[in-house]
Amino acid sequence: LIRLERVTKRFGTNTVLDHLDFSVDAGKHVTLIGPSGSGKTTILRLLMTLLKPDEGTITVDGQQLFPASDKQVREIRKKIGMVFQQFNLFPNMTVLRNITEAPVTVLGMSRDEAGERARDLLDLVGLADKRDARPTQLSGGQQQRVAIARALAMRPQVLLLDEVTSALDPELVAGVLDVLRDIARSTDITMLCVTHEMGFARDISDQVLMFDSGRVIEAGSPEKIFNEPEQARTREFLSAVL
Ligand code: ATP
Repeated sequence: LIRLERVTKRFGTNTVLDHLDFSVDAGKHVTLIGPSGSGKTTILRLLMTLLKPDEGTITVDGQQLFPASDKQVREIRKKIGMVFQQFNLFPNMTVLRNITEAPVTVLGMSRDEAGERARDLLDLVGLADKRDARPTQLSGGQQQRVAIARALAMRPQVLLLDEVTSALDPELVAGVLDVLRDIARSTDITMLCVTHEMGFARDISDQVLMFDSGRVIEAGSPEKIFNEPEQARTREFLSAVL
C-alpha cells in the first residue's frame, strides 16, 4: 500500500533521509523506532505531502506522490489519516462537530450520516458522553482520543501516528494506547506509527523498523527486534529507552 524507494530528503546540508527503502502492505501495522532526529517524523510528513523528497519515489495505493496533480494529491490525502503529538482540535467546535466537519465538507456526507458515524467512533474511543463538550473541557488524553476518532471519520486506508502520547501526562498515556490497540485489533486499517512506547510497539506491530541517521538499520518482527536485535546500535537504543 505504501512504498518508498531510494527516498532522500535534505534540509540544507543535513541529509535527514538517505536513500531510504521500505514498504507497508495493506492492513499491516508498522512501527518506526529510533533516536530523536533520525528522520521518523519526516517520513510521515512526506506521506502527507507536507514535504517533498529530493530524490526517490513514494507511492500510496499505486499512485506516485511526486509528481502528482493537485487532484491526485487530494485523492491520496483522503486515503491517509494522521494524528499528531499535539491534538489540534478545532477549539470553537463541539467534540461531535470536530469529528463530523471533514466528512461533511470534504466527502460530502450528510450531517445525519456523519453524526451517526461520529457517535459510533466516540463509542470506540470511550467518549460517548462527551459529544457536546468543547475540547477545552477535556483532558489531554480525551482530546487525543477525539483526534483519533476525527481521523477515522474520514475512513482512511492508512492511519499515521506521530508520537501521539508524547505530549500527555503519564497517567493519560495508557488510555490512548488502549484505544489504539483496540483499533489495531478490530479494524483492517493500515497503521504506520512513530512511537517511543516500546510496550505498545511490541503489542501492535507486525513489523518494527529501527532507524538511525536516515536509514533503516534493522527491521523485523517485534520479537526479533526487542528480544534478539542484531545491530549494536539497536541494542544501545533499546537499553536506553526500556
Ligand atoms: P523526533 O523523535 O525528535 O521527532 P525524528 O526521528 O522524528 O525525531 P525528524 O523530526 O524527522 O526526526 O527530523 C530529522 C532531522 O531533520 C532533525 O535533525 C531535524 O532537526 C531536521 N528537520 C526536520 N524538519 C526540518 C525543517 N523543516 N527544516 C530544517 N530541518 C528540519
